[in-house]
Amino acid sequence: MTAADHNFAGRKFIIVGGAGYIGSHVCKMIAKLGGVPITFDNFSAGHKHAVKWGPYVEVDLRDRAATLAAMQAHKSVNTVIHLASSIEVGIGEKHPAEFYDNNVSGALNLLLAMRETEAERLIFSSTCATYGETQNMPLQESQPQIPVSVYGKTKLAIEHMIQSFHKAYGLNYVTLRYFNASGADEGGDIGEEHDPETHLIPNALKAAAGLGGKMKLFGTDYDTPDGTCIRDYIHVNDIARAHILSELAFDNGLQRAELNIGTGQGVSNLEILQTIERVTGHAVPYDLAPRREGDLTRLYADSQRARETIGFVPEHSSIETIIKTAWNFHKRVWNIPDK
Ligand code: UDP
Repeated sequence: MTAADHNFAGRKFIIVGGAGYIGSHVCKMIAKLGGVPITFDNFSAGHKHAVKWGPYVEVDLRDRAATLAAMQAHKSVNTVIHLASSIEVGIGEKHPAEFYDNNVSGALNLLLAMRETEAERLIFSSTCATYGETQNMPLQESQPQIPVSVYGKTKLAIEHMIQSFHKAYGLNYVTLRYFNASGADEGGDIGEEHDPETHLIPNALKAAAGLGGKMKLFGTDYDTPDGTCIRDYIHVNDIARAHILSELAFDNGLQRAELNIGTGQGVSNLEILQTIERVTGHAVPYDLAPRREGDLTRLYADSQRARETIGFVPEHSSIETIIKTAWNFHKRVWNIPDK
C-alpha cells in the first residue's frame, strides 16, 4: 500500500514544529489523507501563516509543565511527530548552550510528557549530520555516528534518549535521518522560509532573482570532481511521505527503526547553481568564499533500509523538480514576475 492509498479519516497526530518548513508539509499531507494534524510550536522559527490544516497550541518544549499540559489536553493522540529544533549549524557552534537546551532538554520534556499521557508512537526528525566525516559513501545507518557540529551532536543525543525510552518504557519510534530537505509543495503555498537563511538552494535562488546581491559559494578546494561539496537533496514532500509511511509501518507492527531519508544521488554545489540557471533562466551571481566551518565534503544516503522497512522510494526528488518547486514558491513570496 502506498501513502496515497491510505485513509487517516479522523486520526489525530501531534506535529511538534508543525509551523516550520518540513512540519507544514507533513501537516498538509496528513490533512489530505483525512487526518487531523495538531501543531505544537513556539513560533520562534515557524510561521502562523503556515498552519492551515488543523489547530495549533503555542508551546515551548523547554517549559516542561506547559509541554505536559499541552499533551494532556490531547491525551487521545497516540502518534507524535517531532520536528522542532534549532537547526543553523553555525549558530550552534557559537551558542551550544541554547542548542542543547532547546533541542535536547526540549526533546526530554516531550518524551516525559508522552510517557505521562501514554502516547506510544514517536516519529523523530534526525539528520545525516549525526554521521560526521566518513569516506564510506553511500552512508548506511550502521556506520558510526561521530557528529562534527553541535547541531549533529544534539540530534544524536536525542536519538540515544529515544532508544533508551524504547528499551526501558516500550516507546515505539521511527527516527528519520533526513539528508538535504529542499523544494516546496506544488501548490506554492508553503516552502522554505528561514530567517536567517543559510541553505544553498534558497540563497542561490535569491541571488538569481537579483535580491540581496551575490551569494557566497563556500569552498571550491574540496576533494570532489569540481571542488565543491556534494549533498543528497530530497524533496520536502518526499520527506513528508516518509512520516506517513512510518505511521503505516507502526500499524503493521514496526516498533523501532533508524532510517536514512535521501535519494542516494550526490549533487555538487556547482551542479545546483547550474541547474538553477537552467530552470529559472537567470544567472546566479556568486563570489568564491573560504570553506564554511563544520561542512563535510560529501554526504549521500544508502536508502535501502528505508525502502525495505517502510516502503520509502523518493518520487519528487529530481534536482529539476526540487528547484522548479522552490522557485515557484519563492517567486510568489518575493513577487518575481514570470519571465
Ligand atoms: N553553501 C554555499 N553557500 C550558501 C549556503 C550553502 O556555498 O549560501 C554550501 C555549503 O557550504 C554546503 C552546501 O552548500 O557545502 C549545502 O549547504 P546547506 O546549508 O544548504 O546544507 P547542509 O548540507 O549544510 O545541511
